[in-house]
Amino acid sequence: MSLNNIFKNPIRCGLKEWRITMANKFTFYNTLDRQVEEFHSREEGKVSMYTCGPTVYHFAHIGNIRTYIMQDVLLKSLEYAGYEVKRVMNITDVGHLSSDADTGEDKMVAGAKREHKTVMEIAKFYTDAFFKDFDAVGNKRPDVVEPATNCIPEFIHMVEVLLEKGYAYVAGGNVYFDTSKLDDYYVFSSSVEKEALEVGVRDDVEEDVNKKNKTDFVLWFTKSKFEDQALKWDSPWGVGYPGWHIECSCISMKHLGEYIDIHCGGVDNIFPHHTNEIAQSEAYLGHEWCKYWFHSNHLNDQSGKMSKSKGAILTVSVLQEKGYDPLVYRFFCLQSHYRKPLVFSYDNLDNAAQAYNKLIKRVAELKAEGTVDETVKADYEAKFLEAVSNDLNTSMAVTILYDALKADTNDATKLALVESFDKVLSLDLVGHAKALADAGSSVDAELEAYINDAIARRAEAKKAKDFATADAIRDELLAKGVEIKDTREGVVWHLV
Ligand code: AMP
Ligand code: ZN
Repeated sequence: MSLNNIFKNPIRCGLKEWRITMANKFTFYNTLDRQVEEFHSREEGKVSMYTCGPTVYHFAHIGNIRTYIMQDVLLKSLEYAGYEVKRVMNITDVGHLSSDADTGEDKMVAGAKREHKTVMEIAKFYTDAFFKDFDAVGNKRPDVVEPATNCIPEFIHMVEVLLEKGYAYVAGGNVYFDTSKLDDYYVFSSSVEKEALEVGVRDDVEEDVNKKNKTDFVLWFTKSKFEDQALKWDSPWGVGYPGWHIECSCISMKHLGEYIDIHCGGVDNIFPHHTNEIAQSEAYLGHEWCKYWFHSNHLNDQSGKMSKSKGAILTVSVLQEKGYDPLVYRFFCLQSHYRKPLVFSYDNLDNAAQAYNKLIKRVAELKAEGTVDETVKADYEAKFLEAVSNDLNTSMAVTILYDALKADTNDATKLALVESFDKVLSLDLVGHAKALADAGSSVDAELEAYINDAIARRAEAKKAKDFATADAIRDELLAKGVEIKDTREGVVWHLV
């Protein structure tokens, strides 16, 4: 049965059949297999999804937020297709060093020093700032958000098991994962990862001499060159702190169990972070951990990849202070494909703002009249679902919204479609349209009161034979776009 038929016959098909059929058709690019694939969840109708959260040592820039917007669209598209999604996200508040390859200073410690605050104060401040922007762009909060520092016992347990199983070793006081124990460490794409590794090693000023293989990574630090590591915990290997990668494996397993359907991140997470997550998780579990890896590409500015360490950080809140609605930024992101790099410029954002405002105006003009034509609605919903389930073609989804607004159907159907599509797009189209209409009607009421008052003042002036004042009031009205005419029925006015 085709998608269109299913939507045209929703009652005959029933929800269950609809869900299953949708599940079979949902596709996106799986980095693990390097191709666009049909998605099949492990459990029918249910999806478990894990997202690498922010490192909260500074503000999340609009590039980070692009990644979270695209993951939100994936989540809501799956929900639109009928899945129930459980999503878990970590907050990195310890262990992420300035190089992803275990060298450099802990980012949280550096942030605390920069601002003369404690690590926990920094973590709280930037976690709150992150969620303010995360929410403002219409994202749904994950079902579980867990800071790494909440899960130290789980990390220690995993490291113990990896040591027991022979996948890890202690050297120079630290515990390392031994990548030579795996047949296939470079799970994603050996050429890309090896290249990234070479760059990483070149950049390393001080290579870690404790590592047996250059791809080995730290599971637990007790000795590092940073004597001033702020947060430390007791462990079987001495007082120390976890490596970065271990947190995502443990937090995911804590809340989603031994298997997950989809793991998300930005493309920079592919190596070494996700490669290492897979290595340690599968070594620990003894079986495949996650089947689908969803990576979105970066937001770049004119000078290249946007990054937190590059100085002035452009955030959603800064855009807001400059007068941009955060949903304009979401709209800007939706117009391009998640797998392509996106270049940010204010000109591009202005174009998005213009298009967004026009869209809102168009929605505000719709009257909630008539009854919804279920056949037309189902037809457009099928097209919309086809777009988002075709490797998350968000720009096509937006085009279908425009098409629906132009469709040969009544306003009630169009409004129902706008509401339906906004479950995924999350542009608050109806809410903004209502606000626009309300603002319009309050301006009208104000304007009307002013016109009536001016007409009354002019009548008084004419009665007092003060024609100069009467003419001045007429000109004043004209300057405000209101033309008045004296008729036998009294004064009438219209907007010019
Ligand atoms: P971080 O807080 O640095 O750990 O990054 C949070 C998320 O943002 C990760 O999933 C990164 O892959 C992603 N990310 C980092 N830089 C960019 C960028 N310029 N554009 C889009 N996403 C990014
Ligand atoms: Zn992660």
